[in-house]
Amino acid sequence: MPEIPEMENYRTMLLRTVTGKQVTGVWVERPKSINVAVNELSAALNGQVIDNVTRRAKFLVFHLRGGLYLVTHMMLDGRLYYGTGSDHEGLPGKPHVIIGFSDGGKMFFCDLGLGFLHLVDSLGLEAELAGLGLEPLSPDFTWESFMELFRKRRGAVKPLLMDQRLIAGLGNAYSNEVLFAARIIPAKKIPEIGPDGLKRLWEVIPRILREAINNGGYIEEKYAQWDNRSGGQIPHFMIYDRGGEPCSVCGNPIGETKLNGRWTYFCLTCQH
Ligand SMILES: [Zn+2]
Repeated sequence: MPEIPEMENYRTMLLRTVTGKQVTGVWVERPKSINVAVNELSAALNGQVIDNVTRRAKFLVFHLRGGLYLVTHMMLDGRLYYGTGSDHEGLPGKPHVIIGFSDGGKMFFCDLGLGFLHLVDSLGLEAELAGLGLEPLSPDFTWESFMELFRKRRGAVKPLLMDQRLIAGLGNAYSNEVLFAARIIPAKKIPEIGPDGLKRLWEVIPRILREAINNGGYIEEKYAQWDNRSGGQIPHFMIYDRGGEPCSVCGNPIGETKLNGRWTYFCLTCQH
C-alpha cells in the first residue's frame, strides 16, 4: 500500500502535470470507486480547474477552483498515471476513473479496488479526514506529542505505528524500516521500550520518510512515460522485503514473520 513517500511522489508529479489545467472530460469505468452518480461527477468537474494538490496521511486532495475537492486513497493496489491518451500501453493497471484536460492530457486512476475517488465539499473533506493521527512531517510531530500518544499504550510497537489514528501515513514498509533504524524489535511491547528507544523512534520516523521521498518512494510503476523517479527507494530499503538476505549492518540473515497479519522483518543482532 502506498505510504507517505509514495503519495508525496505522486503529489510532486501531479503538481507538475495537472495543476492550473481545465477539466474537459470525465470517464468512470467503475462507478463503485466514486461516491456520487457518474453524471454528477462529470457536471461538477467539467470546466473546473485544479488549483492545488495536497496530502494528508495517505490521502491526496485535489482543490477545485469552484470550492469543491476530490479526495483519493489508493488503498492496496491503486495507481495513478498521466498520459496523453496515445500511450495507454504504459498504464499501470485497469483504469477505473479518467479525467481529461483541455491540453489533451489525461489522469488515470487505476486499480482502485478498495481505494476511491470522492467528490466532497469542505465539510465532506473534514469527514473524510476525521480521526487521523499525527502527521509525521508536520511541525505537530513533537517529542511531547509523540510520547503522549504512546505513554499509556501496552501493545506491540509495530502495529501501533501503523494505526492511522495515532500516526497517520505510516504503513507496513516504513514501519519495518523505522524500527530497524531505531534498533527496536517490531514485536516489542511499548512499556518495554523505554524513553531512549522511543526517542530514537521519534527521531528516525521523519528522517526515513524524507529520505524515501527524495528517493522517489517504492511504487515501481511509472506515473508517466518520462517518470524516472518512482521506485527509487527499493534498493535503499534496509530490511523491508529482504527476509533471508544478509543484514547490511551486521551480515546476519534478516528474519521475517507475520505480526498482526503483516509481513515483518527484523535483525536479532541489530534490534532489541
Ligand atoms: Zn543486523
